[in-house]
Amino acid sequence: MTTAGQVIRCKAAVAWESGKPLSIEDVEVAPPQKDEVRIKILFTSLCHTDVYFWDAKGQDPLFPRILGHEAGGIVESVGEGVTDLQPGDHVLPIFTGECKECRHCLSEESNMCDLLRINTDRGTMIHDGKSRFSINGKPIYHFLGTSTFSEYTVVHVGQVAKINPSAPLDKVCVLSCGISTGFGATVNVAKPKNGQSVAVFGLGAVGLAAAEGARVSGASRIIGVDLNPNRFEEAKKFGVTEFVNPKDHNKPVQEVIAEMTGGGVDRSVECTGSIQAMISAFECVHDGWGVAVLVGVPNKDDAFKTHPMNLLNERTLKGTFFGNYKPRSHIPGVVEKYMNNELELDKFITHSVPFSEINKAFEYMLRGEGLRCIIRMDA
Ligand code: NAD
Ligand code: ZN
Repeated sequence: MTTAGQVIRCKAAVAWESGKPLSIEDVEVAPPQKDEVRIKILFTSLCHTDVYFWDAKGQDPLFPRILGHEAGGIVESVGEGVTDLQPGDHVLPIFTGECKECRHCLSEESNMCDLLRINTDRGTMIHDGKSRFSINGKPIYHFLGTSTFSEYTVVHVGQVAKINPSAPLDKVCVLSCGISTGFGATVNVAKPKNGQSVAVFGLGAVGLAAAEGARVSGASRIIGVDLNPNRFEEAKKFGVTEFVNPKDHNKPVQEVIAEMTGGGVDRSVECTGSIQAMISAFECVHDGWGVAVLVGVPNKDDAFKTHPMNLLNERTLKGTFFGNYKPRSHIPGVVEKYMNNELELDKFITHSVPFSEINKAFEYMLRGEGLRCIIRMDA
């Protein structure tokens, strides 16, 4: 029996208010409309961005909402106008899209699609401004156009990467956000040259993926910076060669790094979301050639403050979403890198829980324990 064109009743983890445990509810998921696909999610994982919008302290709150954006699944049905996906395709939903038509999508340099770039405030579908999720007729908001903490979700076709069906979804789901973001921030944006030094701020999954990018680029030194000393042991597996905990020093961490490296690192990648770390990551790069890349999602009211002389002295500051990858064009190739053993994913996956225990994944992240926790939807 086909479910295409019909409302599907399934389980979803709903965030009713900020900071309260998610509750598993029966939700109704409407069929996909024009340019949309409905996906059966098999595995999802938790990224810190979900936690920021659940906690909603430094962000605009929008509730009730179905969070989740790092996931893998199978297309259940497609809406009108969708030609390049069909039921049964294995896919990764992506929080930022690629319409393939706008100036950004046509540019080789940008992944900031005019139509589908990341939008954290929107809680509905762009086609009609409505939600596809409801409980007893009451709409539940979407998150990042993906809302993967649900057995079924509806996503714009431009936010769906079709991948090799033999790729294990319980592993490659982490390429749907964190690992591609960190890895791409280094290899596509910071672009360290062979033998250069790289500092990575924040040694969660995104930061360690950035370190992995530095390792494959042939970096001579990879300096990991984190406030949580438990991160350092894990980071050794990712080729991080030295560690700095800002709490261990009575001067700014950028000065500590400048002393360690004879004036600064060649590249730095910030993966914390802390404005202080963003400023330090910029100021710790060498003058003349240093490049710093910001990846962490800041609070709504944060402002970046540095002396303009730091820029005049020929340092470069950049930022990136999703490691500059275009989701539909590039992510299938990143999945192939995993299939060809050019990129390791298993070491990022430290926990796994059934969907009914999704709140445990939040607890692990809040305690700074482990890297990625896979949430198994069928369990
Ligand atoms: P995580 O919580 O697993 O890791 C963050 C790490 O940063 C933690 O180990 C924490 O101890 C450390 N940290 C926090 N403040 C610090 C400071 N001031 N100095 C040094 N270390 C500090 O999170 P994650 O899932 O790896 O995500 C990292 C960041 O990347 C988050 O801000 C997330 O929202 C962001 N993110 C951005 C994109 C993008 O496309 N730009 C995509 C995914 C995630
Ligand atoms: Zn576009």
